[in-house]
Amino acid sequence: MVLADLGKRINTAVNSALSNTQDDYATTVDVMLKTIVTALLESDVNIKLVSKLRNNLRSKLLDSKSGNKSTTNAQTKKLIQKTVFDELCDLVDCKSEHPFQPKKKKTNVIMFVGLQGSGKTTSCTKLAVYYSRRGFKVGLVCADTFRAGAFDQLKQNAIKAHIPFYGSYVDTDPVKVASEGIAKFKKEKFEVIIVDTSGRHHQEEALFQEMVEISAVVNPSQTIMVLDASIGQAAEQQSKAFKESADFGAILLTKMDGHAKGGGAISAVAATNTPIIFIGTGEHIHDLEKFSPKSFISKLLGIGDIESLLEQFQTVSNTEDTKATMENLQQGKFTLLDFKKQMQTIMKMGPLSNIAQMIPGMGNMMSQVGEEETSQKMKKMVYVLDSMTKQELESDGRIFVDQPSRLVRVAKGSGTSVFEVEMILMQQQMMARMAQSTKAAQGGGGGMPRIP
Ligand code: GDP
Repeated sequence: MVLADLGKRINTAVNSALSNTQDDYATTVDVMLKTIVTALLESDVNIKLVSKLRNNLRSKLLDSKSGNKSTTNAQTKKLIQKTVFDELCDLVDCKSEHPFQPKKKKTNVIMFVGLQGSGKTTSCTKLAVYYSRRGFKVGLVCADTFRAGAFDQLKQNAIKAHIPFYGSYVDTDPVKVASEGIAKFKKEKFEVIIVDTSGRHHQEEALFQEMVEISAVVNPSQTIMVLDASIGQAAEQQSKAFKESADFGAILLTKMDGHAKGGGAISAVAATNTPIIFIGTGEHIHDLEKFSPKSFISKLLGIGDIESLLEQFQTVSNTEDTKATMENLQQGKFTLLDFKKQMQTIMKMGPLSNIAQMIPGMGNMMSQVGEEETSQKMKKMVYVLDSMTKQELESDGRIFVDQPSRLVRVAKGSGTSVFEVEMILMQQQMMARMAQSTKAAQGGGGGMPRIP
Protein backbone atom coordinates (compact mmCIF):
# COMPACT_ATOMS: atom_id res chain seq x y z
CA MET A 1 0.00 0.00 0.00
CA VAL A 2 1.48 3.33 -0.92
CA LEU A 3 1.71 5.90 1.85
CA ALA A 4 -1.07 8.08 0.48
CA ASP A 5 -3.39 5.06 0.62
CA LEU A 6 -2.31 4.28 4.14
CA GLY A 7 -3.13 7.83 5.20
CA LYS A 8 -6.47 7.70 3.43
CA ARG A 9 -7.44 4.45 5.13
CA ILE A 10 -6.53 5.72 8.57
CA ASN A 11 -8.47 8.92 7.89
CA THR A 12 -11.50 6.99 6.75
CA ALA A 13 -11.35 4.82 9.87
CA VAL A 14 -11.13 7.86 12.13
CA ASN A 15 -13.83 9.77 10.26
CA SER A 16 -16.29 6.90 10.34
CA ALA A 17 -15.63 6.49 14.07
CA LEU A 18 -16.34 10.20 14.49
CA SER A 19 -19.64 9.98 12.67
CA ASN A 20 -20.78 6.68 14.19
CA THR A 21 -23.83 7.28 16.34
CA GLN A 22 -25.19 3.74 16.35
CA ASP A 23 -22.66 1.62 18.22
CA ASP A 24 -21.51 2.11 21.76
CA TYR A 25 -18.16 3.82 22.26
CA ALA A 26 -16.08 0.67 22.86
CA THR A 27 -17.41 -0.99 19.70
CA THR A 28 -16.74 2.16 17.68
CA VAL A 29 -13.16 2.27 18.96
CA ASP A 30 -12.63 -1.42 18.17
CA VAL A 31 -13.96 -1.08 14.61
CA MET A 32 -11.68 1.89 14.02
CA LEU A 33 -8.67 0.09 15.49
CA LYS A 34 -9.28 -2.94 13.29
CA THR A 35 -9.07 -0.84 10.13
CA ILE A 36 -6.00 1.06 11.34
CA VAL A 37 -4.24 -2.16 12.32
CA THR A 38 -4.98 -3.82 8.96
CA ALA A 39 -3.77 -0.76 7.06
CA LEU A 40 -0.51 -0.61 9.03
CA LEU A 41 0.16 -4.32 8.63
CA GLU A 42 -0.39 -4.03 4.88
CA SER A 43 2.24 -1.27 4.87
CA ASP A 44 4.65 -3.77 6.37
CA VAL A 45 4.77 -2.23 9.83
CA ASN A 46 6.12 -4.80 12.25
CA ILE A 47 3.36 -6.75 13.97
CA LYS A 48 4.77 -6.10 17.43
CA LEU A 49 4.78 -2.36 16.83
CA VAL A 50 1.26 -2.49 15.46
CA SER A 51 0.08 -4.49 18.42
CA LYS A 52 1.67 -2.03 20.83
CA LEU A 53 0.04 0.88 19.02
CA ARG A 54 -3.32 -0.87 19.11
CA ASN A 55 -3.12 -1.56 22.85
CA ASN A 56 -1.97 1.97 23.64
CA LEU A 57 -4.71 3.50 21.54
CA ARG A 58 -7.38 1.27 23.01
CA SER A 59 -6.46 1.83 26.60
CA LYS A 60 -5.98 5.58 26.16
CA LEU A 61 -9.31 5.99 24.37
CA LEU A 62 -11.29 3.82 26.78
CA ASP A 63 -9.60 5.05 29.97
CA SER A 64 -10.03 8.72 29.15
CA LYS A 65 -13.67 8.20 28.40
CA SER A 66 -14.45 6.09 31.48
CA GLY A 67 -12.56 8.53 33.69
CA ASN A 68 -14.79 11.35 32.49
CA LYS A 69 -18.33 10.23 31.77
CA SER A 70 -19.66 13.71 31.12
CA THR A 71 -17.60 14.33 27.96
CA THR A 72 -19.48 15.92 25.10
CA ASN A 73 -19.58 14.52 21.62
CA ALA A 74 -17.16 17.19 20.42
CA GLN A 75 -14.69 16.35 23.20
CA THR A 76 -14.87 12.65 22.34
CA LYS A 77 -14.12 13.43 18.70
CA LYS A 78 -11.18 15.57 19.67
CA LEU A 79 -9.93 12.82 21.96
CA ILE A 80 -10.06 10.23 19.17
CA GLN A 81 -8.30 12.48 16.67
CA LYS A 82 -5.59 13.59 19.03
CA THR A 83 -4.92 10.11 20.42
CA VAL A 84 -4.63 8.57 16.94
CA PHE A 85 -2.37 11.40 15.80
CA ASP A 86 -0.12 11.12 18.87
CA GLU A 87 0.20 7.35 18.67
CA LEU A 88 1.06 7.46 14.97
CA CYS A 89 3.70 10.10 15.72
CA ASP A 90 5.05 7.86 18.43
CA LEU A 91 5.27 4.98 15.97
CA VAL A 92 7.64 6.91 13.70
CA ASP A 93 9.47 8.81 16.42
CA CYS A 94 12.98 7.55 17.08
CA LYS A 95 13.02 9.52 20.36
CA SER A 96 16.34 11.00 19.51
CA GLU A 97 17.26 14.58 18.87
CA HIS A 98 18.03 15.71 15.33
CA PRO A 99 21.77 15.19 15.63
CA PHE A 100 23.26 17.67 13.26
CA GLN A 101 22.91 21.21 11.96
CA PRO A 102 25.75 22.51 9.78
CA LYS A 103 27.21 25.80 10.93
CA LYS A 104 27.89 28.74 8.67
CA LYS A 105 31.53 29.86 8.21
CA LYS A 106 32.75 26.47 9.49
CA THR A 107 33.75 23.30 7.67
CA ASN A 108 31.02 20.69 8.05
CA VAL A 109 31.91 17.32 6.55
CA ILE A 110 29.05 14.92 5.89
CA MET A 111 29.89 11.36 4.94
CA PHE A 112 27.40 9.12 3.16
CA VAL A 113 27.38 5.34 3.47
CA GLY A 114 24.94 2.69 2.31
CA LEU A 115 24.36 -0.36 0.18
CA GLN A 116 24.62 -0.13 -3.57
CA GLY A 117 21.39 0.97 -5.21
CA SER A 118 20.00 2.45 -2.01
CA GLY A 119 20.05 5.92 -3.56
CA LYS A 120 23.25 7.15 -1.95
CA THR A 121 24.74 9.12 -4.84
CA THR A 122 21.40 10.66 -5.71
CA SER A 123 20.85 11.64 -2.08
CA CYS A 124 24.31 13.24 -1.83
CA THR A 125 23.37 15.63 -4.60
CA LYS A 126 19.94 16.23 -3.12
CA LEU A 127 21.47 17.16 0.22
CA ALA A 128 24.05 19.36 -1.49
CA VAL A 129 21.22 21.23 -3.23
CA TYR A 130 19.27 21.38 0.03
CA TYR A 131 22.10 23.14 1.87
CA SER A 132 23.11 25.22 -1.11
CA ARG A 133 19.57 26.66 -1.27
CA ARG A 134 19.90 27.51 2.40
CA GLY A 135 22.91 29.67 1.68
CA PHE A 136 25.80 27.28 2.39
CA LYS A 137 28.81 26.93 0.13
CA VAL A 138 28.63 23.22 -0.71
CA GLY A 139 31.01 20.80 -2.43
CA LEU A 140 30.66 17.12 -3.37
CA VAL A 141 33.45 14.55 -3.11
CA CYS A 142 33.20 11.17 -4.82
CA ALA A 143 35.15 8.66 -2.73
CA ASP A 144 33.38 5.72 -4.36
CA THR A 145 36.27 4.07 -6.13
CA PHE A 146 34.62 0.64 -5.94
CA ARG A 147 31.88 1.01 -8.53
CA ALA A 148 32.83 1.80 -12.11
CA GLY A 149 30.96 4.86 -13.27
CA ALA A 150 30.32 6.18 -9.76
CA PHE A 151 32.36 9.32 -10.33
CA ASP A 152 30.66 9.99 -13.67
CA GLN A 153 27.27 9.67 -12.04
CA LEU A 154 28.14 12.09 -9.25
CA LYS A 155 29.76 14.47 -11.72
CA GLN A 156 26.68 14.54 -13.95
CA ASN A 157 24.38 15.11 -10.97
CA ALA A 158 26.65 17.83 -9.61
CA ILE A 159 26.90 19.65 -12.93
CA LYS A 160 23.13 19.54 -13.32
CA ALA A 161 22.70 20.95 -9.83
CA HIS A 162 25.54 23.50 -10.22
CA ILE A 163 27.44 22.07 -7.25
CA PRO A 164 31.29 22.01 -7.34
CA PHE A 165 32.67 18.47 -7.17
CA TYR A 166 35.88 16.51 -6.71
CA GLY A 167 36.81 12.95 -7.72
CA SER A 168 39.34 10.86 -9.59
CA TYR A 169 39.17 8.46 -12.54
CA VAL A 170 42.50 6.83 -11.70
CA ASP A 171 42.92 6.69 -7.94
CA THR A 172 41.58 3.51 -6.37
CA ASP A 173 42.14 4.47 -2.76
CA PRO A 174 38.89 5.96 -1.39
CA VAL A 175 40.61 7.29 1.73
CA LYS A 176 43.12 9.25 -0.36
CA VAL A 177 40.48 10.67 -2.70
CA ALA A 178 38.28 11.66 0.24
CA SER A 179 41.04 13.45 2.09
CA GLU A 180 42.28 15.22 -1.06
CA GLY A 181 38.74 16.39 -1.87
CA ILE A 182 38.18 17.66 1.63
CA ALA A 183 41.54 19.43 1.69
CA LYS A 184 40.74 21.18 -1.60
CA PHE A 185 37.30 22.35 -0.50
CA LYS A 186 38.51 23.33 2.95
CA LYS A 187 41.16 25.54 1.39
CA GLU A 188 38.48 27.24 -0.67
CA LYS A 189 36.39 27.84 2.46
CA PHE A 190 33.54 25.51 1.60
CA GLU A 191 31.08 25.19 4.46
CA VAL A 192 29.42 21.85 3.71
CA ILE A 193 31.49 19.07 2.14
CA ILE A 194 29.55 15.94 1.28
CA VAL A 195 31.52 12.75 0.75
CA ASP A 196 29.98 9.89 -1.20
CA THR A 197 31.58 6.53 -0.34
CA SER A 198 31.34 3.12 -2.01
CA GLY A 199 28.39 0.86 -1.47
CA ARG A 200 28.33 -2.93 -1.45
CA HIS A 201 25.68 -5.37 -2.48
CA HIS A 202 25.56 -7.43 0.67
CA GLN A 203 29.01 -7.57 2.25
CA GLU A 204 28.17 -5.34 5.10
CA GLU A 205 31.33 -6.28 6.92
CA ALA A 206 33.47 -4.79 4.15
CA LEU A 207 31.19 -1.80 3.89
CA PHE A 208 31.49 -0.99 7.59
CA GLN A 209 35.23 -1.61 7.52
CA GLU A 210 35.71 0.91 4.74
CA MET A 211 33.34 3.34 6.38
CA VAL A 212 35.34 3.25 9.60
CA GLU A 213 38.62 3.74 7.69
CA ILE A 214 37.40 6.72 5.69
CA SER A 215 35.73 8.17 8.72
CA ALA A 216 38.95 8.03 10.72
CA VAL A 217 40.66 10.14 8.08
CA VAL A 218 37.96 12.61 7.08
CA ASN A 219 36.61 13.03 10.61
CA PRO A 220 33.03 13.81 9.54
CA SER A 221 30.74 16.09 11.50
CA GLN A 222 27.93 13.72 10.51
CA THR A 223 27.71 10.27 8.94
CA ILE A 224 24.50 9.47 7.14
CA MET A 225 23.49 5.96 6.25
CA VAL A 226 21.22 5.74 3.25
CA LEU A 227 18.52 3.09 3.43
CA ASP A 228 16.06 2.08 0.75
CA ALA A 229 12.57 2.28 2.31
CA SER A 230 11.16 -0.27 -0.10
CA ILE A 231 12.74 -3.02 2.03
CA GLY A 232 10.10 -2.27 4.66
CA GLN A 233 10.62 -3.69 8.14
CA ALA A 234 13.89 -5.31 7.05
CA ALA A 235 15.27 -1.80 7.54
CA GLU A 236 15.40 -2.58 11.24
CA GLN A 237 18.17 -5.11 10.78
CA GLN A 238 20.21 -2.76 8.57
CA SER A 239 19.73 0.15 10.88
CA LYS A 240 20.78 -1.98 13.87
CA ALA A 241 23.87 -3.28 12.06
CA PHE A 242 24.87 0.30 11.32
CA LYS A 243 24.32 1.42 14.88
CA GLU A 244 26.31 -1.49 16.28
CA SER A 245 29.24 -1.08 13.88
CA ALA A 246 29.63 2.62 14.36
CA ASP A 247 27.25 4.35 16.66
CA PHE A 248 27.55 7.85 15.31
CA GLY A 249 25.12 8.08 12.49
CA ALA A 250 21.81 9.18 11.23
CA ILE A 251 19.58 7.67 8.57
CA LEU A 252 18.29 9.00 5.29
CA LEU A 253 15.43 6.86 4.01
CA THR A 254 15.05 6.94 0.24
CA LYS A 255 12.19 5.94 -2.05
CA MET A 256 9.47 6.92 0.36
CA ASP A 257 7.42 7.90 -2.68
CA GLY A 258 4.92 5.46 -4.01
CA HIS A 259 6.46 2.47 -2.27
CA ALA A 260 4.34 -0.02 -0.46
CA LYS A 261 6.58 -0.47 2.52
CA GLY A 262 7.62 3.06 3.46
CA GLY A 263 5.60 3.05 6.66
CA GLY A 264 7.18 -0.26 7.66
CA ALA A 265 10.69 1.02 7.05
CA ILE A 266 10.26 4.26 8.91
CA SER A 267 8.71 2.63 11.99
CA ALA A 268 11.34 -0.12 11.95
CA VAL A 269 14.21 2.38 11.92
CA ALA A 270 12.52 4.50 14.57
CA ALA A 271 12.23 1.42 16.77
CA THR A 272 16.02 1.12 16.82
CA ASN A 273 16.21 4.70 18.14
CA THR A 274 18.36 5.73 15.20
CA PRO A 275 17.51 9.23 14.08
CA ILE A 276 15.97 9.54 10.63
CA ILE A 277 16.96 12.99 9.47
CA PHE A 278 15.77 13.12 5.88
CA ILE A 279 13.53 11.19 3.56
CA GLY A 280 13.87 10.90 -0.20
CA THR A 281 10.55 11.28 -1.96
CA GLY A 282 11.41 10.95 -5.64
CA GLU A 283 14.16 10.91 -8.25
CA HIS A 284 14.30 14.67 -8.75
CA ILE A 285 17.05 16.65 -6.96
CA HIS A 286 14.51 18.58 -4.91
CA ASP A 287 12.76 15.46 -3.68
CA LEU A 288 14.28 15.52 -0.23
CA GLU A 289 12.48 16.40 2.98
CA LYS A 290 13.69 16.95 6.47
CA PHE A 291 12.07 14.31 8.62
CA SER A 292 10.09 15.02 11.71
CA PRO A 293 7.43 12.66 13.12
CA LYS A 294 4.74 15.35 13.40
CA SER A 295 5.30 16.66 9.88
CA PHE A 296 5.33 13.18 8.46
CA ILE A 297 2.11 12.08 10.13
CA SER A 298 0.41 15.40 9.36
CA LYS A 299 1.17 14.93 5.69
CA LEU A 300 0.19 11.27 5.82
CA LEU A 301 -3.21 12.19 7.17
CA GLY A 302 -3.64 15.08 4.73
CA ILE A 303 -3.70 17.60 7.56
CA GLY A 304 -1.01 19.72 5.96
CA ASP A 305 2.27 20.67 7.48
CA ILE A 306 2.84 24.27 8.27
CA GLU A 307 6.37 23.75 9.62
CA SER A 308 7.73 22.22 6.39
CA LEU A 309 5.86 24.73 4.31
CA LEU A 310 7.53 27.55 6.15
CA GLU A 311 10.91 25.93 5.94
CA GLN A 312 10.56 25.69 2.15
CA PHE A 313 9.16 29.18 2.02
CA GLN A 314 12.13 30.65 3.85
CA THR A 315 14.58 29.08 1.43
CA VAL A 316 13.05 30.66 -1.65
CA SER A 317 11.99 34.05 -0.39
CA ASN A 318 14.15 35.58 2.24
CA THR A 319 12.31 38.86 2.11
CA GLU A 320 10.21 41.18 4.21
CA ASP A 321 7.23 39.00 3.35
CA THR A 322 8.72 36.01 5.12
CA LYS A 323 9.57 38.12 8.15
CA ALA A 324 6.00 39.37 8.46
CA THR A 325 4.60 35.84 8.18
CA MET A 326 7.11 34.53 10.70
CA GLU A 327 6.15 37.28 13.13
CA ASN A 328 2.49 36.42 12.74
CA LEU A 329 3.20 32.75 13.29
CA GLN A 330 5.17 33.45 16.40
CA GLN A 331 2.02 35.02 17.75
CA GLY A 332 0.01 31.97 16.66
CA LYS A 333 -1.60 33.90 13.77
CA PHE A 334 -1.96 32.99 10.10
CA THR A 335 -3.92 35.52 8.06
CA LEU A 336 -5.33 35.22 4.57
CA LEU A 337 -2.51 37.49 3.40
CA ASP A 338 0.05 35.04 4.82
CA PHE A 339 -1.79 32.33 2.94
CA LYS A 340 -1.72 34.32 -0.30
CA LYS A 341 2.00 35.10 -0.06
CA GLN A 342 2.76 31.48 0.56
CA MET A 343 0.61 30.30 -2.32
CA GLN A 344 2.37 32.69 -4.70
CA THR A 345 5.78 31.60 -3.53
CA ILE A 346 5.13 27.90 -3.61
CA MET A 347 3.81 28.11 -7.13
CA LYS A 348 7.38 29.06 -8.07
CA MET A 349 8.98 26.48 -5.82
CA GLY A 350 8.05 23.14 -7.36
CA PRO A 351 7.84 20.21 -7.54
CA LEU A 352 4.18 20.58 -6.80
CA SER A 353 3.82 17.07 -5.42
CA ASN A 354 6.04 17.94 -2.46
CA ILE A 355 4.36 21.21 -1.75
CA ALA A 356 0.78 20.08 -2.15
CA GLN A 357 1.14 17.65 0.77
CA MET A 358 1.90 20.51 3.09
CA ILE A 359 -1.44 22.23 2.51
CA PRO A 360 -4.47 20.66 4.18
CA GLY A 361 -6.42 18.50 1.74
CA MET A 362 -4.14 19.20 -1.26
CA GLY A 363 -2.06 16.04 -0.91
CA ASN A 364 -5.15 13.86 -1.24
CA MET A 365 -6.36 15.87 -4.18
CA MET A 366 -3.02 15.49 -5.89
CA SER A 367 -3.12 11.71 -5.58
CA GLN A 368 -6.67 11.64 -6.91
CA VAL A 369 -6.70 14.11 -9.79
CA GLY A 370 -3.02 14.51 -10.67
CA GLU A 371 -0.55 17.35 -10.88
CA GLU A 372 -2.17 19.29 -13.73
CA GLU A 373 -5.53 19.70 -12.05
CA THR A 374 -3.99 20.44 -8.65
CA SER A 375 -1.88 23.15 -10.25
CA GLN A 376 -5.03 24.67 -11.81
CA LYS A 377 -6.72 24.56 -8.40
CA MET A 378 -3.79 26.34 -6.80
CA LYS A 379 -3.86 29.04 -9.46
CA LYS A 380 -7.56 29.51 -8.79
CA MET A 381 -6.77 29.89 -5.11
CA VAL A 382 -4.46 32.77 -5.93
CA TYR A 383 -7.20 34.40 -8.10
CA VAL A 384 -9.58 34.15 -5.17
CA LEU A 385 -7.05 35.70 -2.79
CA ASP A 386 -6.30 38.40 -5.39
CA SER A 387 -9.94 39.42 -5.32
CA MET A 388 -9.92 40.12 -1.61
CA THR A 389 -9.47 43.60 -0.16
CA LYS A 390 -6.51 44.52 2.02
CA GLN A 391 -8.77 44.47 5.06
CA GLU A 392 -9.98 40.97 4.23
CA LEU A 393 -6.50 39.66 3.55
CA GLU A 394 -5.14 40.98 6.81
CA SER A 395 -7.98 39.43 8.74
CA ASP A 396 -8.18 35.96 10.24
CA GLY A 397 -11.05 35.15 7.87
CA ARG A 398 -13.89 35.64 10.36
CA ILE A 399 -14.90 38.78 8.49
CA PHE A 400 -16.46 36.51 5.86
CA VAL A 401 -18.59 34.73 8.45
CA ASP A 402 -19.84 38.05 9.81
CA GLN A 403 -20.50 39.47 6.35
CA PRO A 404 -21.30 36.64 3.91
CA SER A 405 -21.95 39.12 1.07
CA ARG A 406 -18.17 39.44 0.86
CA LEU A 407 -18.03 35.79 -0.22
CA VAL A 408 -20.28 36.50 -3.18
CA ARG A 409 -18.20 39.52 -4.22
CA VAL A 410 -14.92 37.59 -4.06
CA ALA A 411 -16.39 34.64 -5.95
CA LYS A 412 -17.64 36.96 -8.70
CA GLY A 413 -14.38 38.88 -8.86
CA SER A 414 -12.30 35.74 -9.22
CA GLY A 415 -14.59 33.86 -11.57
CA THR A 416 -15.12 31.11 -9.02
CA SER A 417 -18.01 29.96 -6.84
CA VAL A 418 -18.89 30.79 -3.25
CA PHE A 419 -18.17 27.17 -2.44
CA GLU A 420 -14.63 27.48 -3.80
CA VAL A 421 -14.02 30.62 -1.76
CA GLU A 422 -15.32 28.84 1.33
CA MET A 423 -12.98 25.92 0.71
CA ILE A 424 -10.00 28.27 0.66
CA LEU A 425 -11.16 29.93 3.85
CA MET A 426 -11.43 26.49 5.41
CA GLN A 427 -7.86 25.64 4.40
CA GLN A 428 -6.57 28.93 5.79
CA GLN A 429 -8.48 28.25 9.01
CA MET A 430 -6.78 24.89 9.32
CA MET A 431 -3.39 26.48 8.80
CA ALA A 432 -4.28 29.11 11.39
CA ARG A 433 -5.22 26.37 13.84
CA MET A 434 -1.91 24.69 13.13
CA ALA A 435 -0.12 27.96 13.80
CA GLN A 436 -1.94 28.17 17.11
CA SER A 437 -1.19 24.61 18.06
CA THR A 438 2.47 25.05 17.10
CA LYS A 439 2.60 28.05 19.40
CA ALA A 440 0.77 26.11 22.11
CA ALA A 441 3.19 23.21 21.69
CA GLN A 442 6.12 25.58 22.10
CA GLY A 443 4.51 26.76 25.28
CA GLY A 444 4.06 23.16 26.41
CA GLY A 445 0.40 22.82 25.40
CA GLY A 446 0.50 20.80 22.19
CA GLY A 447 -2.43 19.99 20.00
CA MET A 448 -3.40 18.96 16.56
CA PRO A 449 -5.58 20.33 13.82
CA ARG A 450 -8.73 18.60 12.66
CA ILE A 451 -8.35 15.80 10.14
CA PRO A 452 -10.04 17.07 6.96
P1 GDP B 1 23.60 4.28 -5.08
O1 GDP B 1 24.08 3.03 -5.77
O2 GDP B 1 23.26 4.00 -3.66
O3 GDP B 1 24.49 5.44 -5.23
O4 GDP B 1 22.17 4.62 -5.74
P2 GDP B 1 21.77 5.73 -6.80
O5 GDP B 1 21.90 7.08 -6.21
O6 GDP B 1 22.48 5.47 -8.07
O7 GDP B 1 20.21 5.43 -6.94
C1 GDP B 1 19.69 4.20 -7.38
C2 GDP B 1 18.32 4.46 -8.03
O8 GDP B 1 17.40 4.90 -7.05
C3 GDP B 1 18.38 5.55 -9.08
O9 GDP B 1 17.60 5.15 -10.17
C4 GDP B 1 17.74 6.76 -8.40
O10 GDP B 1 17.11 7.63 -9.30
C5 GDP B 1 16.75 6.07 -7.49
N1 GDP B 1 16.39 6.86 -6.31
C6 GDP B 1 17.20 7.42 -5.38
N2 GDP B 1 16.49 8.04 -4.42
C7 GDP B 1 15.17 7.89 -4.75
C8 GDP B 1 13.94 8.30 -4.15
O11 GDP B 1 13.86 8.94 -3.08
N3 GDP B 1 12.80 7.93 -4.80
C9 GDP B 1 12.82 7.22 -5.96
N4 GDP B 1 11.65 6.90 -6.53
N5 GDP B 1 13.96 6.81 -6.54
C10 GDP B 1 15.12 7.14 -5.95
